[in-house]
Amino acid sequence: MSEPVAFQKCIMPACGATYSIGEVLTSCKRCGGLLDVVYDWGRVNVPKDLRFFSSRILVGNYSNIADVSGVWRFRELLPFISYHDPYLYLKEIVSLDGMEGWTKPVHVSSAADFTGVNRESFYVQFEGQNPTGSFKDNGMTAAFTHAQMVGARIAACASTGNTSASFAAYAANSGFLEKAFIFIGAGRIAYGKLSQSLEFGVKTIQIEGDFDDAMSRVRELGRDKGVYLVNSVNPFRLEGQKTIMYRILEGLNWRVPDWVVCPGGNLGNTSAFGKAFEELFELGLINKKPRLVVVNADGADTLYRIYNEKKIRWNKGKVDLKIIEDFYAEMEKEGRKAHTIASAIEINKPVNLLKALRALEWTDGVVEKVSDQEILDAKAVIGKSGMFGCEPASATSVAGVKKLVEKGVIKTKDIVVAVLTGSQLKDPDAIVGYHAEGLNSALDEKFKSYGIISRRFQNKPVRVKNDLNEIIAVMGI
Ligand SMILES: *Cc1c(COP(=O)(O)O)cnc(C)c1O
Ligand SMILES: [Zn+2]
Repeated sequence: MSEPVAFQKCIMPACGATYSIGEVLTSCKRCGGLLDVVYDWGRVNVPKDLRFFSSRILVGNYSNIADVSGVWRFRELLPFISYHDPYLYLKEIVSLDGMEGWTKPVHVSSAADFTGVNRESFYVQFEGQNPTGSFKDNGMTAAFTHAQMVGARIAACASTGNTSASFAAYAANSGFLEKAFIFIGAGRIAYGKLSQSLEFGVKTIQIEGDFDDAMSRVRELGRDKGVYLVNSVNPFRLEGQKTIMYRILEGLNWRVPDWVVCPGGNLGNTSAFGKAFEELFELGLINKKPRLVVVNADGADTLYRIYNEKKIRWNKGKVDLKIIEDFYAEMEKEGRKAHTIASAIEINKPVNLLKALRALEWTDGVVEKVSDQEILDAKAVIGKSGMFGCEPASATSVAGVKKLVEKGVIKTKDIVVAVLTGSQLKDPDAIVGYHAEGLNSALDEKFKSYGIISRRFQNKPVRVKNDLNEIIAVMGI
């Protein structure tokens, strides 16, 4: 047996402990730091030209799910599977029959005009088009592949909704787990998402607490009970999420955009996107990196405060952890709790904070924040394209671009790709509450509590008597 090319490594340079990929870990055993999956690239047969990857969808074997999948057709760039041997990798890969990651950047002129970026240089990457309706499938296929490789029998996740929907789909579809559990916080989940995990038949446990509480308990189960965890502290999941960036490059004919913009929740995407570009750059496959923009909601702005107000930087791993600890201590003392209509990013303590700081350093990144009002206005504009509607958390990226154009940080001629993380169908309440004010008073109250007072892009349904003349009058024809 030759040395394996993939291993796990602590991200803290002062520690740098390494572990085999056969170990199930969500943090470093020596220092508690986050882990990366890293590769001995010199021994990986990486294509010399990124264009090679497109050939797999254009002339590939349509029955080979590893060529069809938008994640696994980039397998040489996440080579913790036996990427060189079809006989082996087709057994290893756990996929929704190759359906994850069928996405590409598209022009949405309504959203471009809203942000102020030129129509020709503005794109959205609509990850809501994945099988379960969010980007999470990109990561889940990779996490499940690893779970199966290590012989996991019990798996779990804590979720604001989309992780659980994706987890449930892979658990139900793959069938290799003996038990699978979803943990959610009380009353903090959009029904579109909850309904998916219920429908897919996976045991759902609602704990009396919020997402951060659910996350802490699940990490303890991982530690004490050997439960396999698929949250984004799982470094294998983030390997799958890197492919979102490969598909963006591919859709731009392998040109590197100036900006990639994404919402910031637990910061798994931020971490994965930064790693994707850093690796491609190190491999000499791209000659510049885009700048990452991470957009928080005003009501869940931990990264924004830490990066822009406390000015904390990764600083090549010499990050000032004390200031972050103090920040969290103060948060707890004041009883500050995340509160935003963008439930997918309603998070107090992002688990991937340090990896995100590293990604921001790698990409000369920017952190912005937007109000729930700005989020819902942006969301309505995106919806008006008729092409892709998104859920509130996703719209932070487009709202963030608008804000940064106004500040002159993003120029109108820049090439900008905004990642839309989840589908509009995930959270119908957010749509009905915006457009059909007055239909449901509980919803109206909820909107007020999030500070949504105007509805600039409203498409209000009209009530009319059951009378043809009145109907025609309303129609204006
Ligand atoms: C999970 C999720 C996010 C947050 O992503 P992170 O990688 O945790 O920052 C954003 N939007 C949607 C729709 C999500 O499901
Ligand atoms: Zn360590």
